[in-house]
This record gives sequence, C-alpha cells and structure tokens, in this order.
Amino acid sequence: MLPAQERSVMLMKKIAKGTHRNVNYVSRLFQPQNVVPKDGIVKREDSLSKSQKLMHDLGVIRQASPGAFHLLPLGERSLQKLIRIVDDEMCKINAQKLLLPLLTSGELWKSTGRWEDIGEELFTLKDRHDRELVLSPTHEEAVTELMASIPQLSYRQLPLLLYQVTSKFRDEMRPRFGLLRGREFIMKDLYTFDTSAEAASETYKAVSKAYDNIFRRIGIQYFKVSAVTGVMGGSVSHEYHFPAAVGEAKLLICESCGYGTSLESCVPSECPECGHGFLKCCPGIEVGHTFLLGTKYSVPLKARFTTVEGKSDFLQMGSYGLGMTRILAAGVEVLSLPDEMRWPIALAPFTVCIVPPKVRKEVRKVQWLT
Ligand SMILES: [Zn+2]
Repeated sequence: MLPAQERSVMLMKKIAKGTHRNVNYVSRLFQPQNVVPKDGIVKREDSLSKSQKLMHDLGVIRQASPGAFHLLPLGERSLQKLIRIVDDEMCKINAQKLLLPLLTSGELWKSTGRWEDIGEELFTLKDRHDRELVLSPTHEEAVTELMASIPQLSYRQLPLLLYQVTSKFRDEMRPRFGLLRGREFIMKDLYTFDTSAEAASETYKAVSKAYDNIFRRIGIQYFKVSAVTGVMGGSVSHEYHFPAAVGEAKLLICESCGYGTSLESCVPSECPECGHGFLKCCPGIEVGHTFLLGTKYSVPLKARFTTVEGKSDFLQMGSYGLGMTRILAAGVEVLSLPDEMRWPIALAPFTVCIVPPKVRKEVRKVQWLT
C-alpha cells in the first residue's frame, strides 16, 4: 500500500480529471453527531466507557436497544477493514469461509449439555410448533453436526479449517460499555478438524501465528495469556487482550518475559515461566480466544472420518474466536483521549481528508477518501 500522502495526491489527480468515482463527501456523510447546546446539561449514565461515549457522540454507532447497536457508515467501514485483514490471514492458513445459520435447534445444544451449562445467557425462543431454538452465541455444535452429516469424510480432506464472520447473541444480565459487552455482536469464529491430537496441535500453532499476524496488523499492543477452558471444554486455551482500565478481565503479566495468565483472583507472584520476573496484575479487554477441544463435540455429535487404515475415528477439533465489533471499540478505547477519538490506522474508517482551496467565493465540497 502507498503511503497516505502519495495516495491522496494520486486520488486528487483522479478527482481533477473526473475519473475517480469513489469519492465520499463529508457533507453527505451520514454521521449523526450529538451536539450539546451551550450551557446544556448532558444527562448521561456515569457507567459509559470512553469508546462508547465517543463512538456514539461522533456518529459511529447508535444504540437500538440495550446491548444492540446500529453500526453507522463509519463503523461499518471500520468493520470491513478489519474483516479484510482477517480474511487475508485466514487465507494464508488455508481456512475457508462459510456461513452457518444463526438460528440453531435447542436439541443440538441439549445433546452436548451446553443448554444447561450456558443457562440463562443462551438466547432461546420457540417457533409456532413449540420447538425450542437458540440464537447462537457460538457454533461448535452447528459446525460439528455439519461435519457429522458428511458421508465418508476421509483423512485426505483433513486438516479442514472453516470460519465465518457473523452476528452472535448472548442474553447478558447487564449489557454495558457499548460494543464492548453487547447482547448482539459480530464475531469471527473458526473451527478446525484434524485426524489426531498431534495434528490438531500443529493446526493450533498455525492459527496462533495467524492471530499474532492479525493483532500485529491492527497495531495495538496486546497480551496473549494462557486461560481456563470453561464451558467450551478441551485442554489448551489462550486469550488475547488489549490492556485497558475498563477491561473486565484480570490478567497476570510477567514484567520480565511477557508470560501472561488469566485468573479469577489476581494475586501477584513469581513468574512460573522465567523464574526471575514478577507477575503484575493488569485489567484487559478480551478480544480473542482459542481452544483445543479434542473430541468434546465430535463424540456426542458423532462426527467421524475414515483413517488411513480404513477405520472410523472421531475428529479432533479446535475453536478460535475473535470479537470483531469488540476489537473496534477496544481499539478506540485504548488509543483515544477523553474528548478525542483515535483509531488504529489500519481500522480508521477514512485515512485521508482533502479540503480543496476556495474557488472564487464558493467553497468546494470537502472530500474523504479511503
Ligand atoms: Zn517471566
């Protein structure tokens, strides 16, 4: 990509010639801002996060209902930039993009025990035939059932990496901080299928590398910490966090070697990794989570493949999430000043704004470019 300055010169030449069709005018941008009248009193909850306040006041998002937000044109542009980075890194590890239905059957969730395990946070509803359905918070069940339905899946087709970028739902008791903790949000979720635990471990390493690339490209300092597997199950798990005061996760980070862990209680201690550093407590916003699942889902849902010897065996799985809308808000949260919104350059809705000189008395329209 060309530096912003060079690009803007190139684009201005195109505009002058009338050959550039994709010009966005500031004057036409749908960016409803919250303008506070002089001496006006703003009635607002104190519990708003910095990013929520800025994104709302500057017309990036607008609340539809508690925990659900409209992504306005600026927010949508930023999301698309993040999706492009993710798609690019997923392509490099041969992950294929698909779309699974958001509506899944209650029976499916009962078969793995998560109907009870997730409990009230699971968004459930009933159709006209009184059948229970779930607005999915994640898709391990759905994608495993899909794999189980493929006849004669061969070891030759593995490893298989499938991902999607879709809305997810969680019936939060108290949605808060705008896009940081909503009831409806957008996630990228990747599911991997391997022939053995060793092969699944190799896939886990490859995806972890892709995640590091994604976070490097976003350009915000992040912590990767070992984590507990929780309701997801499995053996190995890591979380990715942006350090921020508003973050609800408690992390222990080694000041010496960078080792980190996510714990319920935050008790500073000596680093188990390097032995000479001390673990320091810091709050973080969880923006990604990876799990090595083993056969937790493939056994109850009977997702099998045919081995080299022609036998049938259960698929070894992994699950990898990225909170897409949360990354946008967390980026703004980390970088912004209380009254000045700042984006990571890679996700900024626009990077160049051209203000043309006055022609006679008329001020030409101000233009924003990608
Ligand atoms: Zn250490």
